[in-house]
Amino acid sequence: MDLQDAGMGTKCVQAGYTPENGGPRQIPIIQSTTFKYDTSEDMGKLFDLEASGYFYSRLQNPTCDYVAAKIAAMEGGTAGMLTSSGQAANFFALFNICSVGDHIVASSSIYGGTYNLIKTTMAKMGIESTFVSPDASEEELSAAFRNNTKVLFGESIANPALTVLDIEKFAKVAHAHGVPLIVDNTFPTPVNLRPIEWGADIVTHSTTKYMDGHGVHVGGAIVDSGKFDWMAHKDKFPGLTTPDESYHGIVYAEKFGKEGAFITKATSQLMRDFGSVASPQSAFYLNMGLESLHVRMPRHVENGQAVAEFLEGQPLVTHVNYPGLPSSPYYEVAKKYMPKGGCGVVSFELKGGRKTAENFMKHLKLAAIETHVADARTCCLNPATSTHRQMNDEELAAAGVPAGMIRISCGLEDKEDLIADLKQALDAAAKA
Ligand SMILES: *Cc1c(COP(=O)(O)O)cnc(C)c1O
Repeated sequence: MDLQDAGMGTKCVQAGYTPENGGPRQIPIIQSTTFKYDTSEDMGKLFDLEASGYFYSRLQNPTCDYVAAKIAAMEGGTAGMLTSSGQAANFFALFNICSVGDHIVASSSIYGGTYNLIKTTMAKMGIESTFVSPDASEEELSAAFRNNTKVLFGESIANPALTVLDIEKFAKVAHAHGVPLIVDNTFPTPVNLRPIEWGADIVTHSTTKYMDGHGVHVGGAIVDSGKFDWMAHKDKFPGLTTPDESYHGIVYAEKFGKEGAFITKATSQLMRDFGSVASPQSAFYLNMGLESLHVRMPRHVENGQAVAEFLEGQPLVTHVNYPGLPSSPYYEVAKKYMPKGGCGVVSFELKGGRKTAENFMKHLKLAAIETHVADARTCCLNPATSTHRQMNDEELAAAGVPAGMIRISCGLEDKEDLIADLKQALDAAAKA
């Protein structure tokens, strides 16, 4: 059976690795830096990208490749790769097409680390950026483009703002300008949303989150849809359409086609030179998480929805932000792209600012205070006293992170217990 056509559950469990007769049933952890060859000629072909095979685990490792192939199958892409973190995945995806003198258009509602990467660090590499509202109209989006714009970037569900990207609209504008759309699909995962089906060209992940789901590894992934025609925009993407002198003049888009060029270049050039490689052991843990992702995501969604609905009725709560609530401005767009729901992360604001928030969180017994999301165990965070601690109340309000805001990532516990925990902590905070 061709697993490309299988259902999501079957892909989660079985895609990426097929044991040989008598081979290990579970994916083997190939914990080896290097691979042995009989002749120098054999190895030379690998270095020239004339043959495919393994020679050094900074470039490719079989365990990591099994898992990357699974994620590519889940997203409906033609090729994938793992990276050491979600940050590395987004950096590689962007830097694979942008270089000094180029320009990125990105949604302003994205993960803080990615915002810093694009806004500050890539600017130091001579790559400029313009940030647009995730709710921008086609005209407003178009107006942000320049002649040197090479990519449009957004998050399907943004961390932490929980805005939902209108992927079709973003893809339409990107393609009208002859550039690919990259979507960071960390929060919904392909179980709830497959951006490629809506026009995204490249999908990235922090696999640290739901894909792992147990808080055991930091990792990332990039999947290419194989649909973007680099050669049709030859002048815009010289890195893919003209000879790579560091690889004997290979032209990636010619030699590997639409389906393989992007990931081959990112692997053989960026991974070779930056080395942000996933370890085989981490890839193995990630695969364990993927095997149950299709079973876990519905439960995260069920708990997120129940907690959001409970919080919305509480007197101490001024506002609840969850795309599954009819009160959310993203309710309709979330229903269109994610009919099965999005994720288990909910944010809400308490009356009384950071003092009430601190008091409330101190009384939580199940939900732990952590800088993390998407774990099997429920966790929460008050940005004003942690990640955004350096900001005063005015700065927090301007950043859309009010002092009394709490982000809760609903785990896999029983929703009745989560709600009871929240209720007793709200009661205690109201009395304080
Ligand atoms: C966490 C996260 C990242 C960064 O991933 P790391 O694995 O922590 O490097 C990028 N994008 C999103 C949406 C995230 O939630």
